[in-house]
Amino acid sequence: MRKILLNPLINTALFALILLLGATVVLGWKLEIPALVRVFPGLAPMQFNNALCFVLLGLSGMAYLNNIRWACTSLAGLGIVISGLTLLQYPLGLDFGIDLLLAKEETIVKTAYPGRMAPNSALSHLLAFSTLCLLRMGKVFSIRTAGWTGATVLGLGLVSLAGYVINPKGGYSWGELTQMAIHTSFGFVIAGVAFAYVIAPKRMSLENKAFNLWPYMILLLLVVFFIDMQIPQGVAVGLLYLIPIMLSWFFNDRRNILIVAAAANVLIVLDIVFATQYLERDAVVFNQTMSLINVWVSALIIFFLKLANQKQQEAVKAELEKAAQLKQKNKELQELTYVASHDLQEPVRTISSFSDLLVASYNDKLDDEAKQYLRFIREASARSQQLIVDLLDYNRIGQETKTERVDLNTIVSEVLADLSVKIKEENAIINCKKLPTVKGQLLELRLLFQNLISNAIKFHKPDAPPEINITAKRQNGHYEFSVSDNGIGIDETYHSKIFVVFKRLHKKDEYDGTGIGLAHCKKILEHHNGDIWVESTPGEGSTFFFTLPA
Ligand code: ADP
Repeated sequence: MRKILLNPLINTALFALILLLGATVVLGWKLEIPALVRVFPGLAPMQFNNALCFVLLGLSGMAYLNNIRWACTSLAGLGIVISGLTLLQYPLGLDFGIDLLLAKEETIVKTAYPGRMAPNSALSHLLAFSTLCLLRMGKVFSIRTAGWTGATVLGLGLVSLAGYVINPKGGYSWGELTQMAIHTSFGFVIAGVAFAYVIAPKRMSLENKAFNLWPYMILLLLVVFFIDMQIPQGVAVGLLYLIPIMLSWFFNDRRNILIVAAAANVLIVLDIVFATQYLERDAVVFNQTMSLINVWVSALIIFFLKLANQKQQEAVKAELEKAAQLKQKNKELQELTYVASHDLQEPVRTISSFSDLLVASYNDKLDDEAKQYLRFIREASARSQQLIVDLLDYNRIGQETKTERVDLNTIVSEVLADLSVKIKEENAIINCKKLPTVKGQLLELRLLFQNLISNAIKFHKPDAPPEINITAKRQNGHYEFSVSDNGIGIDETYHSKIFVVFKRLHKKDEYDGTGIGLAHCKKILEHHNGDIWVESTPGEGSTFFFTLPA
């Protein structure tokens, strides 16, 4: 689904611009300022009723945007009556008396029908007001239809504007198509754009479909076709077909790019028939063949670029989806671990308290062997309890999302204070360089340092007191820390295995512990977008490295 973010302010500004255009020309008629009515001498004027219709269109559009339904409908209804009656006058050869009803000042500019707006202006207004009424209905079908009527308004404005671009001295030279004043053409182009802006998000919310490009594409092709017909000798005009071809990139279905190219192809061939009335056949065929080559080469380039782009998007999408699945699985696993370890606590506590009770009540009656068995049971249940607590702690890591600025020097001093008894017992020497302040989760970072420092003290060689160095350096946007010791070291085979939950390399009577400390460290660093690894030589010592984003 393509998300279209459109600013409602832009919509309002476009309709306000239409209102301003109409109001300016109304003023031009009332104050008799010809420059406002026809822009340049000799150009077609915007008739009073036409200007009035723009005022109604601007107001009705703004009423629609602000959800003032009655105002939208009544203003658009009035516009339909004015433009509809005007349009009917042409084929019926009648005069309903509406042309000069409000503006008697037709003397400013004289036209064939005094005060009557051009038929294509009346048609555009009729379509524009109908578009607003269709939008007001808010049904799927009516919004779809509004897409077509709104695009036609834009197309009629563009065709007329193109006439002025080709022959700025007078759009009238382009036959019936340009009997529209130049500023009227602008007005309809603005209205067409405003409708596109309103309709796109409507279609998204109603049908969950991307913006329907087809009406605009067809009209654009026809505009280029009309221009091409008008200037048969211009090779460059054929290049104008590149505009619809390039815009066809925005179709979701890439096959539409080829359909647009085929349509352009048909129009170019049609134009050969038309242009040979003015030019030598060979020249026309050469011109149009060049245009055809342009169209197909560019269409194929865009088609394959779109294909590559869509393939890439699909791959990215599949990768997201995969990440989401993994996240879900992870969450389920975390819940399972929590429930399992939480529920295990109860029976283990029962074993522990009943064995305590047995010792307290029957100590005299038990022989030495029974007492030893009981001691094993109590030790095992105490260990199980510790394992469960460790597992629950492990589960909790990463759940806290709130981060803060953490001064790691403070963290290390606190950890050293907590471990002071052990440090004294083992005569440990601990050197710590100045550490940075990082953004993270305070309790997790404290646990990280506590695990690494206590391991460095615990796994010392029997004949040498532990000497531990803590350093930090900044490189490539992150900090790299090290905690090194002169302890027993770790065989290379186990360098990655030691970070797995409950993985220990020694028996519990050699070194105490549950084997979860380094797994905690790994999870904490994953949660902090960092990494951890070890370098070690057995018998010489180990250095644990970890990184944190700077
Ligand atoms: P625990 O310390 O409870 O055994 P850890 O997960 O912290 O569990 O460590 C896993 C294993 O890695 C330890 O049992 C030990 O064999 C090894 N290890 C950890 N730190 C060191 C160290 N500084 N020196 C030597 N071995 C270590």
